[in-house]
Amino acid sequence: MKLDAKALRYMSGDDFRVLTAIEVGSRNHDIVPESLVVQLSHLRGGSVKKHIADLIKRKLIATESSSKYTGFKMVYAGYDYLALKTMSKRGTVASVGNQIGVGKESDIFVVAGDDEKEVVLKLHRLGRQSFRNVKQKRDYFRPNQSPSWMYMSRLSAKKEYAFMRVLHDHGFPVPAPIDQNRHCVVMEFIDAFPLRQIDAVAEPGRLYSLLMDLIVRLAKHGLIHGDFNEFNILLREDGSPVLIDFPQMVSTSHINAEYYFNRDVDCIRTFFKRRFNYESVLYPKFALDVHKEFDLDVQVAASGFTKKDQASLEQFMAENRADDEDGHSSDGDDRLSDDSLSDGGDDKDDNSKDDDDSDSDCSVELDRLGNTIRRHQS
Ligand code: ADP
Ligand code: MG
Repeated sequence: MKLDAKALRYMSGDDFRVLTAIEVGSRNHDIVPESLVVQLSHLRGGSVKKHIADLIKRKLIATESSSKYTGFKMVYAGYDYLALKTMSKRGTVASVGNQIGVGKESDIFVVAGDDEKEVVLKLHRLGRQSFRNVKQKRDYFRPNQSPSWMYMSRLSAKKEYAFMRVLHDHGFPVPAPIDQNRHCVVMEFIDAFPLRQIDAVAEPGRLYSLLMDLIVRLAKHGLIHGDFNEFNILLREDGSPVLIDFPQMVSTSHINAEYYFNRDVDCIRTFFKRRFNYESVLYPKFALDVHKEFDLDVQVAASGFTKKDQASLEQFMAENRADDEDGHSSDGDDRLSDDSLSDGGDDKDDNSKDDDDSDSDCSVELDRLGNTIRRHQS
């Protein structure tokens, strides 16, 4: 999706007033009637008509009819503008550069703030796929309130920012969080390549142990990434990994924590085998290696991203990905369509089979994972 920051400059204050009125009206109207826009914007009816026509022409809102009346709907481009406007007022986004990533559910741009330093803007676009294909199946968790995509994308951004903040503050290798508004997150630009694009590394064993250490360290802090794969690990030139993409993180107290943990571990094992022909008998296991020592999961909840938010987002992600028959994300997200993610803790997943042939020597060694693996490799 294009993001034309220049248009911000050409938009009048009253256009924004009307766009904001439509955003506010969307909170409890699926289709916002013109009379409500007039009321919320405190502008005259004639003037509102003109601004609405302008916003439709710029494709920031769309006209939609129900059986009862015709009104307006916010579309992603309009929501983008509101977020950009807010962040440009704060000085965190002053100009928009190239798009560097397009996922099924996000758009990533290099942008610059008032200080002209390059940073990354991630626009969350939850439901882009499913709502387009299936129309609005039902309005998730907020009957007659904001369109699901707006609400869910905002939750996803809020979550990503909250986790990034806590992880960064505790010295984890993640981008520094800079700003968040609506469905957008601004973060440090990491000058690195996704592991996915790397054909060879000097010491695969060393990198493998760094990554397994990271998974275990996260879990000791009460967290599981949930999508720990070659797309979400950036590798700097000096060989150090940086972890990105946090909307699916879960607490180690989650009912399916073991499943998510083992899946993250498995992802790395599979990738290393395939890409670097590197295999190790040593890998962490949730039951054996995870002893929670810190409670970052609790700190995230305290930061404003509540347990209820987490539950809503999780349910949405699980349902949408399960429904997304043709969905093969470039991000390996298809793994998320597994039914076992949707609810309940009674599923047995493939990973749990591994536990049967686990030996306890492994766990003793894995407490010193990095050294141990290096020793075995050399
Ligand atoms: P998605 O949810 O769509 O997978 P990600 O957060 O994983 O989004 O980002 C997608 C891609 O954008 C990454 O694989 C990476 O190439 C790039 N990217 C994301 N964040 C950054 C960053 N902070 N610095 C540099 N590149 C980034
Ligand atoms: Mg990703």
